[in-house]
Amino acid sequence: MADGIFKVAVPKNEPVKQYMAGSSERENLETQLDKMMGESVDIPLIIGGKEIRTGNITEINPPHNHKHVLGTYHKANSEHVEMAIESALEAWEEWSVMPWEMRVSIILKLADLLAGPWRDVINAATMLGQSKNVMQAEVDAACESIDFMRFNAQFMREIYEEQPIPGENIWNRLEYRPLEGFVLAISPFNFTSIATNLNLSPVQMGNVTVWKPSGTAVYSGYYLMKMYREAGLPPGVINFLPGSGAEIGAVALNHPQLAGVHFTGSTPVFQHIWKTVGDNIQNYRTYPRLVGETGGKDFIFAHESANLKELATAIIRGSFEYQGQKCSASSRMYIPSNIWPELKEILLSDMATIKMGDVRDLSVFMGAVIDRDSFNTIEKYIEYARSSNDAQILFGGECDDSTGYFISPTLIETTDPHFKTMEEEIFGPVMTMYQYDPSKFEETLEVCDKTSPYALTGAIFANDRNAIRAAMKTLRHAAGNFYINDKPTGAVVGQQPFGGSRASGTNDKAGSHANLHRWVSARTIKENLLPSRDYRYPHMG
Ligand code: NAD
Repeated sequence: MADGIFKVAVPKNEPVKQYMAGSSERENLETQLDKMMGESVDIPLIIGGKEIRTGNITEINPPHNHKHVLGTYHKANSEHVEMAIESALEAWEEWSVMPWEMRVSIILKLADLLAGPWRDVINAATMLGQSKNVMQAEVDAACESIDFMRFNAQFMREIYEEQPIPGENIWNRLEYRPLEGFVLAISPFNFTSIATNLNLSPVQMGNVTVWKPSGTAVYSGYYLMKMYREAGLPPGVINFLPGSGAEIGAVALNHPQLAGVHFTGSTPVFQHIWKTVGDNIQNYRTYPRLVGETGGKDFIFAHESANLKELATAIIRGSFEYQGQKCSASSRMYIPSNIWPELKEILLSDMATIKMGDVRDLSVFMGAVIDRDSFNTIEKYIEYARSSNDAQILFGGECDDSTGYFISPTLIETTDPHFKTMEEEIFGPVMTMYQYDPSKFEETLEVCDKTSPYALTGAIFANDRNAIRAAMKTLRHAAGNFYINDKPTGAVVGQQPFGGSRASGTNDKAGSHANLHRWVSARTIKENLLPSRDYRYPHMG
């Protein structure tokens, strides 16, 4: 332990690069994209710092160009999961007692590596592997990941500073111990920054992880692992295990030293995890912490006083950026009938200009959806709407998988506020609109609140302050992240801590103290400076 109460620089959000035509940042990124397109990587498991190739391989293809091969990845079986847990537990011995400033040094170095020499690599891997356009990759893979690292370093120090009051001759202290065991980190495909944070937030608090990346984001995940090694993260602190979620989960969730699960993904998978842990509860050394951020059916609710240009921009960005594959993406909206004709005109003319294609073309707004399964699911929802008497497709609805999994931005109108596409998470570029009578504003707010089991994000658009107040009140529990006159996507670390409740998750707010608190188990220490030397109390005399 070093003597000193060290400070961490007050974090600032990482500036978003713009990649304008002719800029050097654009040229460098394009060079990196070309390089990666010309290579083929063979991605191993990484257990205890060692690369393991199992021979059970899957091809990696860009979703927007599925005939191209970026490489292959090897899949783990149950023996590898056992190995990864052993390696994590071994690393725990050193890492869990490593002085915090040493752990933070690695995290801050990672932030600097990602802001500098690794930025193009991680952005390009996210663009090619997950089909994000340049801006979506930049705000996620680079900026949000860097923000998680720098802000969490500061939050951690603030947590350590939270100390109890002294008593008479008593010095009370709280020691924020890491959990006893390993944390299972299970990440989704749609945010590289979530993959970083699901591992690094427990790790910076002194924990070790077994990481199960999404099968469709192994490519960027592998480069993250390389960057962690360069930053000096000791072997075994994060163990990288691509493979089947069910197979890996079956071993890891049944292990007596499972200390926590840090999950982001769909609601059914998290519910399955919770049930499995419940069924095994008597077998664990400690109660596993369960942190899960899951699905959403996010809304935009407009009042007749809304500004139509602002509303239309929010609908397009909120619903179609990253092909609607953000947990926070708006996918249902409630529009008063007296503003709908004008709004519709603006929307349809803007939607007609949306460019979709290979994300290496930096002028595209949208890429492809993540894989064939996702493409098929979204297509079924569109076909359902097309053949229903309660809905009509106002724009888009074209699905073309000849070169990539492309689904055009789609706008559905329904007369039924409980229509299937108003209630279920689709996870694609599909927005459904329900028109309401402006005199029924409050009743329609009630409908919005009760329509879906989720409560992740939502937005009210209005200039009338009473309307905003009414929406805040009726929709109080309908969204963990609530926006006034803004799209419901794009939460920024340190500014809008992120998470939802109801079926959307445990709402432990990624990018805040709340999340970090879940990865420590405090020990209270009372030290008596003048212990009594007589068992008798004064009243006894
Ligand atoms: P998913 O649930 O299909 O997969 C998430 C992860 O769970 C993957 O790594 C997958 O392999 C793994 N998995 C699947 N079955 C498993 C099992 N039986 N045991 C253990 N692990 C298993 O989700 P996805 O398609 O990658 O991501 C999209 C979903 O994630 C959407 O529902 C979206 O709303 C949600 N999401 C939520 C947030 C949030 O903050 N609330 C953020 C991003 C994504």
